[in-house]
Amino acid sequence: MFIEADNCTEDASVIALKFDKYMRHFHRKTKDTDGQDKPMWRTRWSAPDPQWGDATHPPVLLVFNQVGKRPALKQMEKVAALTREHWQGQAADGFHLYQGKMPIVATTLELLPEHGPAGPAFWRFGREGRQNLWDAIGNPRRDAALARRAEEARRRLAQEAAEREAQRPVCADCGQKFTDDRWKASIAVDWGRGNSHPHLCDDCKIRALEAERQTEQGRTRAPGAGAPGGRGGAGLEGRRLARTLAQLTRARPPGSARACPLLGQALVVGGGCEAGRHGQRR
Ligand SMILES: [Zn+2]
Repeated sequence: MFIEADNCTEDASVIALKFDKYMRHFHRKTKDTDGQDKPMWRTRWSAPDPQWGDATHPPVLLVFNQVGKRPALKQMEKVAALTREHWQGQAADGFHLYQGKMPIVATTLELLPEHGPAGPAFWRFGREGRQNLWDAIGNPRRDAALARRAEEARRRLAQEAAEREAQRPVCADCGQKFTDDRWKASIAVDWGRGNSHPHLCDDCKIRALEAERQTEQGRTRAPGAGAPGGRGGAGLEGRRLARTLAQLTRARPPGSARACPLLGQALVVGGGCEAGRHGQRR
């Protein structure tokens, strides 16, 4: 922050000219250590990083000391009117943005000891009433509006999350809530990738599939198939045979047990054997 003192002896236009010089100074650029052009004042004084859309130049505090015969309050008003182009912000949604502007704050030597920097002793050009120093050089209405928006967004997200949670399916078997992945898979279009049992959680689905596999095996395993001494035997061939037989027995009406001449396999479940029939016909 820069400070200008005035004894109320100079004409307001002379004081206003000083702010033209401040603005020219703030516009000067120089190469920083990283080779990038930066405002020169930023390379000399530390300041908060500029905020997008509201990057102001450094504030200037104008202190009037009522020594001369010009009334201090009148001087403030005159200087404010003459320097409007340097400080006037742009109206946004319930606040102002001061992009590229210079906050000018005025006070008097009488007000300063009476209130101190934390009291309402500072008039920011363009605002109603007096504020404490930090509010005067800052943008409390913008800060409040942004905080309000952030809070609204947070509340909206929380509500959406709660609504989504209320819709989360539970497993029809164990009652456990679906994980996100299981939920996604349960409503996905099944393009033949085995996304079965959409009403069950992952664990129950695995158990159900295992139970179905065992039932299927028990149903299709014929005497001799996989049994010691049987011709089907264990292993891949045995399983393939069992599967083929299962398909055949499902396709044919139940009948009496007999041997399939082609496969050489006894059939006890169901009664038909497509391969056998074809063989017999030839
Ligand atoms: Zn379950």
